[in-house]
Amino acid sequence: MSPDKERREKQGWNHVSLSSPWARGIFFRTDQETRDDMDSKDERLTRMRHSASHIMAETVLSLFPEAKFAIGPAIENGFYYDFDLPRSLTPEDLAVIEQKMREIIVADVPFQREEASKDEARKLFAAQPYKLELIDDVEGENVSIYRQGGFVDLCAGPHVERTGEVKAFKLTSVAGAYWRGDEHRQMLQRIYGALFETQAELDEYLRRLEDAQQRDHRRLGRELDLFSFHEEFGPGLVYWHPKGARVRNIIEDFWRKEHYRVGYELILTPHIGKASLWQTSGHLDFYKESMYSPMQVDEQDYYIKPMNCPFHIQIYSSRTRSYRELPIRLAEMATVYRYERSGVLHGLLRVRGFTQDDAHIFCRPDQVEAEIGRALDFMMFFFKAFGFEDYHVYLATAPDKRAGLAEDWRMAEDVLRSACDARGLRYDLDQGGGVFYGPKIDVKLLDVLGREWQCTTIQFDFNLPERFGITYIGEDGREHRPYMVHRALLGSVERFMGVLIEHYGGAFPLWLAPVQAVVVPIADRHVEYACGVAEALKKADVRVEVDDRNERMNAKIRDAQLQKVPYMLVVGDKEAEAGSVNVRLRNGENLGAMSVDDLLARLQREVAEKT
Ligand SMILES: [Zn+2]
Ligand SMILES: [Zn+2]
Repeated sequence: MSPDKERREKQGWNHVSLSSPWARGIFFRTDQETRDDMDSKDERLTRMRHSASHIMAETVLSLFPEAKFAIGPAIENGFYYDFDLPRSLTPEDLAVIEQKMREIIVADVPFQREEASKDEARKLFAAQPYKLELIDDVEGENVSIYRQGGFVDLCAGPHVERTGEVKAFKLTSVAGAYWRGDEHRQMLQRIYGALFETQAELDEYLRRLEDAQQRDHRRLGRELDLFSFHEEFGPGLVYWHPKGARVRNIIEDFWRKEHYRVGYELILTPHIGKASLWQTSGHLDFYKESMYSPMQVDEQDYYIKPMNCPFHIQIYSSRTRSYRELPIRLAEMATVYRYERSGVLHGLLRVRGFTQDDAHIFCRPDQVEAEIGRALDFMMFFFKAFGFEDYHVYLATAPDKRAGLAEDWRMAEDVLRSACDARGLRYDLDQGGGVFYGPKIDVKLLDVLGREWQCTTIQFDFNLPERFGITYIGEDGREHRPYMVHRALLGSVERFMGVLIEHYGGAFPLWLAPVQAVVVPIADRHVEYACGVAEALKKADVRVEVDDRNERMNAKIRDAQLQKVPYMLVVGDKEAEAGSVNVRLRNGENLGAMSVDDLLARLQREVAEKT
């Protein structure tokens, strides 16, 4: 097993992917062949999970005789099966299905494998259009089928010997899934189940699943009033509410300040460009399906940008550049638009309009190594600032089809490698996984639940400098081609915020919290004092609100906790008298009375430490 696969298996459950039902598809091999190389725990689990999917299909077909069934593979942590049903399933249905599955497991009926000619199979599945389509896809003359009890399925196996071998499982959810992942085809209902060898492992998994649901950024985005989507006016486009925009602006302000500090220049470029720009860049040839249709301006085609590189190159080449000016580092928080199929859109993690923390570094050959190193250091600086301790580095090397010279590729790959090595960054080699224009480093963040999220990318480009013919004047007075590196550290700000929300479960550290403190007056007569406290804090840039609703103090404190506000400042007669506040934290801890000055000092220290 590859280290990546192994890690995914261990952390599991986020890669419930739509990607490879076909990988386990209708290939053909004997059970003995299969069993010979199936003795590890993973393989036992795969057999059990796939068998459970058959048992689930048997149950669903008994409850809905008119059901059409599609595919039901084993996946990480469990299994699913896709059904075409006369009505939508409810949670009550899942409970019934689960109960009936348990009865089949207790009955301990055998799984039996048979071979059939395709014609025989077509008769067997005459009422099952999805199965008929699958039969057509099988290579060769025969297919294998599996029976248990009265149920029969087209299937390559392998399965456990008897239903009684299926261990701890639970049906977890129902989701829509297009037949063959194709949004132009039938929408099916996919029932997911989790399955492990022991109840303890299943319980642990379900606990993590529950934790993940609590942290789901889409749910928290709603509950904390951070952002929304308005499908009816365009899916995959984020609307940032005041609190979400506040967090985002804090991130972007911090990002800009730090970029200036380490020697980047910040630029701003247009959102649309003429077709000729995208022709020169090659995007119209190689990237068109991700671009939106053109709009007409003065009878010319203009495209909204899917990338910023061609614009940044224009700024580089707006005048002659000398070797002395290099490296030139141009950075921009730039919103781009890319077409994504509506089926793959997912909250902030996969959207159609997103903001890259993009930069392009133009440098001389002798500067490349230091520049890559600086980019990695800068990346690590940001990760630390945002509370990510763990990340996974992938180094992707030359694919078969590529632009540029072999020696450039070799040099660039060496540079990426040694820059990682020099920092003690461990990486997985993704042999041949580079883009056609250059090798790259991709970095995935590991959040507190151990899930991986693609963030940073640092990419060499041997293509665009050629296409745009950019140069600098060398020490020898002649024109030379600079190296160009694309890099985004947070990646997409939208995705990064989605990751951040889940990482912190919405409880942002003080420096990022949209509301840092709520002042809670105990009675109406304390509202005036509460407002005075808030004014004093606002003067020192604390993001503070007064909760002057006509509610009981405990209800206000509970609401502030639900809103994950870091500090609650309760004020009553005693506090008004003493010029103090009674300080509570969102975790329930009570710090007692504190003068407003002491509180302010504490808040400022905490913000500076980014905790
Ligand atoms: Zn099967
Ligand atoms: Zn770029």
